[in-house]
Amino acid sequence: MAQHFDYIAIGGGSGGIASANRAAMYGKRVALIEAKELGGTCVNVGCVPKKAMWYAGQIADALKYGADYGFDTTLNHFSWTKLIASRQAYIERIHQSYEHVLAKNQITVIKGFARFVDSQTIEVNGSHYTADHILIATGGHPHTPTIPGAEFGIDSDGFFELQAQPKRVAVVGAGYIAVEIAGVMQALGSETHLLVRKQAPLRQFDPMLQETLVEIMAQDGPTLHTHAVPKAVLKNADDSVTLQLEDGRSITVDCLIWAVGRAPATHHLNLAAAGIALDEQGFIPTDKYQNTAVANIYAVGDNTGRIQLTPVAVAAGRRLSERLFNNKPTEHLNYDLVPTVVFSHPPIGTIGLTEPEAIAQYGESQVKVYRSQFTAMYSALTQHRQPTRMKLVCVGTEQKIVGLHGIGFAMDEILQGFAVAIKMGATKADFDNCVAIHPTSAEEFVTL
Ligand code: FAD
Ligand code: NDP
Repeated sequence: MAQHFDYIAIGGGSGGIASANRAAMYGKRVALIEAKELGGTCVNVGCVPKKAMWYAGQIADALKYGADYGFDTTLNHFSWTKLIASRQAYIERIHQSYEHVLAKNQITVIKGFARFVDSQTIEVNGSHYTADHILIATGGHPHTPTIPGAEFGIDSDGFFELQAQPKRVAVVGAGYIAVEIAGVMQALGSETHLLVRKQAPLRQFDPMLQETLVEIMAQDGPTLHTHAVPKAVLKNADDSVTLQLEDGRSITVDCLIWAVGRAPATHHLNLAAAGIALDEQGFIPTDKYQNTAVANIYAVGDNTGRIQLTPVAVAAGRRLSERLFNNKPTEHLNYDLVPTVVFSHPPIGTIGLTEPEAIAQYGESQVKVYRSQFTAMYSALTQHRQPTRMKLVCVGTEQKIVGLHGIGFAMDEILQGFAVAIKMGATKADFDNCVAIHPTSAEEFVTL
C-alpha cells in the first residue's frame, strides 16, 4: 500500500528543499526524497565548500598585502587538513539546520534513490509513495571527457574530497568551476595550470571581464594554456599524471581536475514510466510555470536546462509552491536579469547583456557603453597592485541599463544592490542621481 502525500519533492538540494518547505508552510503534507546528503550540490560539493576554499585563498592573498600595511606576515605553515576540517564542520552545521527546519515543517524525509513507477507513484528502496503533485529537482553531476585515461583525473566532486594539497595541479575547462578551482589552488600555493581548449576562459562573459582575468592570471597565475585540447591521460609510476594534448604538448601534474561542464541527473529516474521525454541533452523540458509535459509533475533547477545557480533553483521552487498551494495561479520565476558572480581572484560580477549581445540585439547606434578602470585602494597601497574594471551597457535615448559588468576587489559583494536597481529598470541618469559612497570601488558605478 503506497503512502500518499499532497506534494513529493524528489531531490533534497537547493530547489527541492525550498519548494518543499514553502508547500509545508501552507499546511500541505509533504515528502522530500534525497539519495545522498541534504543540501544537494550547493551545500555539499558546490557553492558552500567552494566559497570556504575561496575565503582561504582571500586570506592567503591578504597575507601578501600585509607587509605593505606594516604587518610581519611570515607564514610558517598552511594546513590543508585544518581548512578541510573547518569547512566540513560548517557543512555539518548546515545539515543540522536543514534537518531542524524540515522537522519543524513536519516534512517526511525519505532517504534513498527515487524512481517513477507511473505518473503518480514513486518507488524508493522497495516502498511506494504517491502524491497529488510531484516535483523533480534532481540537479546534475560533473561531466568528464571521453578520452583514454580520463579516469586518472578527478572532477569537482573529487576536488572536495582531496585530503592533502596537491603540489602541481592542472584544471581543464573554461567555465565557472575551472576558473574558481584554479584560482583557489593558485592562491593556496599549488603550482596551478588552467587549460582551455579555445582562446580564453569564460568566453560567454563580457570581453572586458575575460581580458582582464587573463591579464591578472598572467601577473598572478594560474598559468593559462590556451588552445589546449585534451587527447589522453597517462598514469606515471610516481602516481603523477601526464595530460597529452592534441597538438603534441603535454603537462605532468600530481592532480588533474576536469571542469568541462555538468550533465543533468535525469537518466535513472525512469521518467518514461511517468510519460516524460527528455530533450537531447537529457534536460526535462518545462514551460515558464515549471510544468513538465505531464499534468501535476514539475521540474526546477539544474535538470531543466535553465540557468544553473542555487538562488535560481530556490526561487523557481518557492514560486512553484506559491502557485500550487497559495492560490497564485500566475506565479512563476522570470529568468531575465539574473545577477551572477564568478569567485575568481579577483571576483567577477555580472548581470544582463554583454556589450556584443546588446549591439546584436539593439544595433550599435542604440548602445552606449561607460567604462572605468582603476586600482582598488586595497591593493593600491601595496606592491601587488591589481586592476579593477567596470562597464555599464546602456540602450536607447533614455539610456536604460541592460548590462553591468565588473571584475575586481569586492565585486562579489557590490553586485547585488545594483542588480536590484537594474531589475527595476534603472537608467544611467538614475545611477548618476545617486550620491556616491566614498571611498569605495562601488562608487565608480554612479560616477561614470
Ligand atoms: P542539486 O542542488 O544538485 O540537488 C539535487 C539533489 O537531488 C541532490 O542532492 C541529489 O543527490 C538528489 N537526487 C538526484 N537524483 C535523485 C533521485 N533519483 N532520488 C533522490 N534524490 C536524488 N551556484 C551558485 O549560485 N553560486 C555558487 O557559488 C555556485 N558554486 C558552485 C560550485 C560548484 C563546484 C558546483 C558544482 C555548482 C555550483 N553552483 C553555484 C551551482 C549550484 O550548486 C546549483 O545550481 C544548485 O545546487 C542546483 O540546485 P538543484 O536543486 O537543481 O540541484
Ligand atoms: P560551464 O558550462 O560553465 O563551463 C564548462 C566549459 O568547459 C565549457 O563552457 C567549455 O568552454 C569547456 N569545455 C567543455 N567541454 C570541454 C572539453 N571536452 N575539453 C575542454 N574544455 C571543455 O560548466 P561548469 O562545470 O564550470 O559549471 C556548471 C554550471 O554551474 C555553471 O554554468 C554555473 O551555472 C554553475 N556554477 C556557478 C558558480 C557560481 O555561481 N559562482 C560556480 C560554479 C558553477 P569552451 O567552449 O570555452 O571551451
